[in-house]
Amino acid sequence: MESPTRCSVIIVGAGVSGISAAKVLAENDVENMLILEASDKIGGRIRKESFGGVSVELGAGWIAGVGGKESNPVWELARQSGLRTCFSDYSNARYNIYDRSGKIFPSGIAADSYKKAVDSAIQKLRNQQGNHGVADVSKLYEPPSSPKTPIELAIDFILHDFEMAEVEPISTYVDFGDREFLVADERGYEYLLYKMVESFLFTSEGKILDSRLKLNKVVRELQHSRNGVLVTTEDGCVYEANYVILSASIGVLQSNLISFKPPLPRWKTEALEKCDVMVYTKIFLKFPCKFWPCGSEKEFFIYAHERRGYYTFWQHMDNAYPGSNILVVTLTNGESKRVEAQSDQETLKEAMEVLRNMFGPDIPDAIDILVPRWWNNRFQCGSYSNYPIYVNHQIVDDIKAPVGRIFFTGEHTSERFNGYVHGGYLAGIDTSKALLEEMRKEKERKTESQTFLLEPLLALTGSLTLTQTDAVSGLHKCEIPRQLFLSSNKLGLSEAIL
Ligand SMILES: Cc1cc2nc3c(=O)[nH]c(=O)nc-3n(C[C@H](O)[C@H](O)[C@H](O)COP(=O)(O)OP(=O)(O)OC[C@H]3O[C@@H](n4cnc5c(N)ncnc54)[C@H](O)[C@@H]3O)c2cc1C
Repeated sequence: MESPTRCSVIIVGAGVSGISAAKVLAENDVENMLILEASDKIGGRIRKESFGGVSVELGAGWIAGVGGKESNPVWELARQSGLRTCFSDYSNARYNIYDRSGKIFPSGIAADSYKKAVDSAIQKLRNQQGNHGVADVSKLYEPPSSPKTPIELAIDFILHDFEMAEVEPISTYVDFGDREFLVADERGYEYLLYKMVESFLFTSEGKILDSRLKLNKVVRELQHSRNGVLVTTEDGCVYEANYVILSASIGVLQSNLISFKPPLPRWKTEALEKCDVMVYTKIFLKFPCKFWPCGSEKEFFIYAHERRGYYTFWQHMDNAYPGSNILVVTLTNGESKRVEAQSDQETLKEAMEVLRNMFGPDIPDAIDILVPRWWNNRFQCGSYSNYPIYVNHQIVDDIKAPVGRIFFTGEHTSERFNGYVHGGYLAGIDTSKALLEEMRKEKERKTESQTFLLEPLLALTGSLTLTQTDAVSGLHKCEIPRQLFLSSNKLGLSEAIL
């Protein structure tokens, strides 16, 4: 067992929020920190993998929110790092909707269905507004018609599971613009994190060699008191810190991976339970040759099936990686969990059947498949947080509020940008700023309590006439306050400078 070494701050998790939090601390001279990451690399839900000869992004793929008045900070980082990106034009997707016999729905029908779905979604939203006191509840709202046909189900899936701006004002689009850029760089989205880390951790030739980052350290217990936090990892190591910043995802916080001693208060656990966890799965398929229509207006295409979300949303990777012959299909929630539970071969069979329905029986079989499992990954337990549209602000406040010396961060603590990389990035910065403020206040409290404890002594010494020898051997007099400090510390009054 490692002997406990006290750090100023321990950051649990090295995803974008943990890294941005650490960077802010380093910039404010908090050098004595430690980052404990459960997996074997930094990045968390920003993770690339080599597949079919290129780098594919298993987690975050897009920089969402570009082109607005205000600049998205992640877009800025990408620009500074020279990250290669491709603009994603989703607007044509609605005109590339295939039925089960491979026919593309005529654009008139597609546009009508789309309009109907948007109107219905807006109606639903109004009803929700009414229920949340935003509008006049006494007004009678028409119930929105629910999607029934395959095309309606497909459009409903695209509108809701892909959060399209037509339906609801999305803070990301409002603040940063509604353009989205796909990261298509061999170095991966995670390159942005390495660039951030370089500024405060010791790195060499693209490797992080700083002992303040410890990989494969699964935090299992946080024992916290008013004096500090003891952090125990799965391999039996114990670390001690004045403060902890916990960046584990909402799914992890809802699981029992990390136990808290004493347990988290009820207001905290109840708030954590109220936030939904979305599962979003991008399945990559590599083919020996291309058989789908090319061009940027054909990049996204939709399969209309009577089961909602059944291999609905497709993308070819020709714009991102010309000649790669890779298709990506996105599943969410129930379909993601179902696919995670079955073998990749079964998933391949299902996907091929769908593709043969769209493009005919003669298309070649995929030669490789990659199915990420975010739901079953115990360090993630899902893809991202999802708050109801009209969330009670108290829930988000409670989710991000510190409990004693444990500070919470991560995309789920960002009220405006939860679910996004920039949400995680900005949350890390906010959390560290809040912690720095708390550290400043603690220092102030210590100075005050020190003065308070010293006052009687100073009054006493002030009434005495000191000889030169007395003054020099001041040590002698320090013993009293030192003991006082010790006992006050035991009482939890202060951890005064000893
Ligand atoms: C499939 C998918 C697609 C996405 N697409 C996009 C997109 O296109 N654009 C976009 O902006 N966002 C997207 N997101 C969301 C985005 O990836 C996240 O919002 C963001 O990366 C979250 O960062 P984070 O730091 O909050 O959490 P994480 O990245 O999850 O970081 C938390 C870290 O904590 C570690 N950890 C967990 N438990 C422990 C423990 N007990 N001990 C030690 N370490 C622990 C984890 O291993 C992880 O590294 C997507 C996510 C997924 C999964």
